[in-house]
Amino acid sequence: THFGYEEVAVEEKATKVASVFHSVASHYDVMNDLMSFGIHRIWKKFTIEMSGVRKGHKVLDIAGGTGDLTMAFSRLVGDEGEVVLADINESMLNVGRDKLLDRGFGGNIRFVQANAESLPFPDNHFDCITIAFGLRNVTDKDKALADMARILKPGGRLLVLEFSKPTTALMSKAYDLYSFSALPLMGKLIAGDSESYRYLAESIRMHPDQETLKQMMSDAGLDHVEYHNMTGGVVALHRGVKL
Ligand code: SAM
Repeated sequence: THFGYEEVAVEEKATKVASVFHSVASHYDVMNDLMSFGIHRIWKKFTIEMSGVRKGHKVLDIAGGTGDLTMAFSRLVGDEGEVVLADINESMLNVGRDKLLDRGFGGNIRFVQANAESLPFPDNHFDCITIAFGLRNVTDKDKALADMARILKPGGRLLVLEFSKPTTALMSKAYDLYSFSALPLMGKLIAGDSESYRYLAESIRMHPDQETLKQMMSDAGLDHVEYHNMTGGVVALHRGVKL
């Protein structure tokens, strides 16, 4: 705005996101398993299945963090393919790179520090783009989605895996209880950091629901946008195609 309020809020969000991920980077994987009871592995497995990625494909994993999806894609695309793990946060990228290199991955993977809002890649380049539990941290989501559409090849797929809106009242209640009491407490006890995990719960609440995100993806220029709820709508996988 002309008054500077919006700029201040935007700046605050980006700074907050940076400090949260700097501080959670080293214990990110352990916390992921604990807080989701290991279920995030199933959500990610489904994402891989829905990606249609195969040998020789070029894949971009935005907000790739510690590289769970990147690892799976690296196996699928083989030596002729390429996977780019992009993340805005240096600490997360370092943890991801160390983990992948330790496990013998690397040949077909590139690590790039980049903001989802301005992706440093040419038009019509990737067969598949994923962003898992990343979009809610992005300040200008419409801009980011449009940039993803730009760098997809015609026929390429965008998959957005993200927390969403529980589909039943009971699940909604249970989830509220869990995320506003148990989550910050676990964050405090295990990671010594309740603040970051409170941010996590809040950012999930603020995130657009299934239908809103579907519309946002269509507006960004993607076609055949559809979504699949998982775990009672706690998480949804949205998928769209660039025509
Ligand atoms: N995709 C990984 C996974 O599913 O385990 C990591 C998800 S982690 C919850 C969110 C990641 O988004 C962090 O690594 C953070 O640094 C990254 N991130 C936040 N804002 C971003 C932005 N504007 N552009 C790119 N990455 C961003």
